[in-house]
Amino acid sequence: MQKYIDQLNEAQREPVLQKDGPMIIIAGAGSGKTRVLTIRIAYLMSQGVDAFSILALTFTNKAAREMKNRISDIVGSNEAKNLWMGTFHSVFARILRSESDKLGYPSNFTIYDSQDSVRAISAIIKEMQLDRDIYKPKQVLSRISSYKNSLITVKAYFNNPELQEADAMSKKPRLGEIYQNYVERCFKAGAMDFDDLLLKTNELLTRFPEVLAKYQNRFRYILVDEYQDTNHSQYLIVRALSDKFQNICVVGDDAQSIYAFRGANINNILNFQKDYEGVKTFRLEQNYRSTKNIVEAANTIIDKNKTKLDKIVWTANDFGPKIKVHRSLTDAEEGRFVASTIFEQKMQQQLTNGKFAILYRTNAQSRAMEDALRKRDIPYRIYGGLSFYQRKEIKDVLCYLRLVLNPKDEEALVRVINYPHRGIGDTTVEKLTVAANHYKRSIFEVMQNIDKIDLKLNSGTKQKLQDFVMMIQSFQVINENQDAFYITDHVAKKTGLVQELKKDATPEGMAKIQNIEELLNGIKDFTEGQREIDGARGALSEFMEDVALATDLDKDTSDEDRVALMTIHLAKGLEFPHVFVVGMEEDLFPSAMSMSTRSELEEERRLFYVALTRAEHQAYLTYAQSRYRWGKLTDSEPSRFIEEIDGQYLEYLTPEENNYRYKPMIDSDIFGDVDKSKLRLAKPTAGTPPSPPTAEGGARTDFNIRKLKPVSSNSGAANLFDNKLLTGNIVMHERFGKGEVLNLEGVGADKKAEIKFEVGGIKKLLLRFAKLDVI
Ligand code: ATP
Ligand code: MG
Repeated sequence: MQKYIDQLNEAQREPVLQKDGPMIIIAGAGSGKTRVLTIRIAYLMSQGVDAFSILALTFTNKAAREMKNRISDIVGSNEAKNLWMGTFHSVFARILRSESDKLGYPSNFTIYDSQDSVRAISAIIKEMQLDRDIYKPKQVLSRISSYKNSLITVKAYFNNPELQEADAMSKKPRLGEIYQNYVERCFKAGAMDFDDLLLKTNELLTRFPEVLAKYQNRFRYILVDEYQDTNHSQYLIVRALSDKFQNICVVGDDAQSIYAFRGANINNILNFQKDYEGVKTFRLEQNYRSTKNIVEAANTIIDKNKTKLDKIVWTANDFGPKIKVHRSLTDAEEGRFVASTIFEQKMQQQLTNGKFAILYRTNAQSRAMEDALRKRDIPYRIYGGLSFYQRKEIKDVLCYLRLVLNPKDEEALVRVINYPHRGIGDTTVEKLTVAANHYKRSIFEVMQNIDKIDLKLNSGTKQKLQDFVMMIQSFQVINENQDAFYITDHVAKKTGLVQELKKDATPEGMAKIQNIEELLNGIKDFTEGQREIDGARGALSEFMEDVALATDLDKDTSDEDRVALMTIHLAKGLEFPHVFVVGMEEDLFPSAMSMSTRSELEEERRLFYVALTRAEHQAYLTYAQSRYRWGKLTDSEPSRFIEEIDGQYLEYLTPEENNYRYKPMIDSDIFGDVDKSKLRLAKPTAGTPPSPPTAEGGARTDFNIRKLKPVSSNSGAANLFDNKLLTGNIVMHERFGKGEVLNLEGVGADKKAEIKFEVGGIKKLLLRFAKLDVI
């Protein structure tokens, strides 16, 4: 143990050795917060604290596994086995299973994934005959989700006129009813959605003091990583559980709070000192992850935020290479740049694929990257997006398995009752649903009693329903004695799913069968793993729990060497030697949807801080001048975040851009008509442009915007920076065709024209990039 403590620096050692009491470690990226948590747990155990009484909550289950492995290395795997570690959702799902009867749920309750929830909400909206364009199921779900995470139950909602008014104002006066129906439907189906796992835990701990006492006594030491991103519901759980012993250690970085849009509350970290008595606060300042260039550049970014705790982050590491900035014409070209850079770096430095990560703001951006990587034969793995378990053929198998465990599960039942086709039509299912709602029973129970209820079904249909019930019940009998692999294999064959897929001889059909094989392989792995651990059976229920709560990072099979592609949100806590942050464009990053208030923009900036600080050695920022968005080719401007980094840390790879910074550093308009780009003259910072442009188009060749080539190849191209373009001009655009200039705004490199095109309507184009000819 001592060896590991010796490896820590002074500031890290202190919180590790502080055994009892409430404590918070606030520190910047890469300063060893997660490492301190890990060593602290091992230290507690070495001091005689029983593993059984330690609870550690992490951002992903993968992070928990890695932590556990490291602790096993230090204290031995037998000791570490009993540690409770995982995400909030997985830990509390486990607790809910053993206490579910108190809340009226079966212990084998289903966990609905977001697809199931959206389906259930869609069905409700349809039943209520509401307009789907106004009541968009995903939006409705996210609203309900935010209520649940703020502990606003249906009852609380109806007691709160303000909330109802707000929903009425946003044209959704019946949202409360949908919420109520959804909650009832889930309950009837014996199902909880993700948010319920936290909401119901809170309910359990507040309504049942004896349950609270039991877990308070059990978890004497509680540790939380990434505390800055806990939501109100999570906050209350931690608060309640730690109330008795107050041995609570949370670590976080306010600068990395990036989940406000999902209800995370940064005040949880800011107010921690007030919540407990005698809180010890620790700060770590030395970053071990990244080069000086990266650490210092990241500091200059986060400095721009007003709402923040003052923190110092420094590193003893080398300066390392500068952050490379690359501009390309299109997103496809951006992809090619990234792929060929990875290719070259791999060759030159003999690096493996796993040393590279490509991070983006939205999942949709992965496509261009994927195309380029595939062309270069570079293996990659995408995290996030549609996961393996959500693919249709896999989800079909899983829904049968869900029914085996919980036949009340309505979403599962509706999905597979007539797949493969067995002659149970939509009308029959509708009748069953209506009857189930009427009798306040599940559809399965209605089916079990189909002889006793008059649904005006013919005898053939009744027989089919009874056959289905019999089939599921026969699976249940088998499941009592067999492991997860056996039952899954049996279900895939006996339901006719595999035969159904075999009918489809196309490559897609074959791929689906392979996926089912892959699922079976995974289950085999699982059951054998379970046996190794403690001779357990490897039961289906345990496997399904893993599946329901697996985040995408969890399924990482580390033996494959691949470039990692993921959203920045998902990359939190991770590190890679080479990181590409792509799509560094206005409206994309910062996102157009998150720029209306300062606090939204600050969250985007924190997201950028997270992105950059994932890099150990080399960071790249790339952007494209045009990209397809919503199916349309759109012009884009470089992100303001590039501008915000002190220029001394940047190296522009695209020649014309050398030393050229796009936007004025001063955003306000107090300078009236003055060419804002001139203002740079007054504010040179080390490494920033040696010579700014002059309004007349200065003579310096290294910084002359006149030198920016008009993109159009036509000889008649207007030199737009000479202000030749006037309102009323008729122009030709390469893609949009003919249009009339309605208005001009901005100055210098920021100059924009509002143009009405014959096809496509009015567009605002940045003249610096616009491919325009005056005709
Ligand atoms: P983030 O804010 O991104 O979650 P963090 O503060 O949790 O970062 P860690 O992931 O714990 O930081 O540590 C960053 C890197 O620095 C890891 O590779 C870790 O092993 C290494 N590290 C941390 N402390 C030390 C130390 N004292 N000596 C050497 N390496 C260290
Ligand atoms: Mg960490």
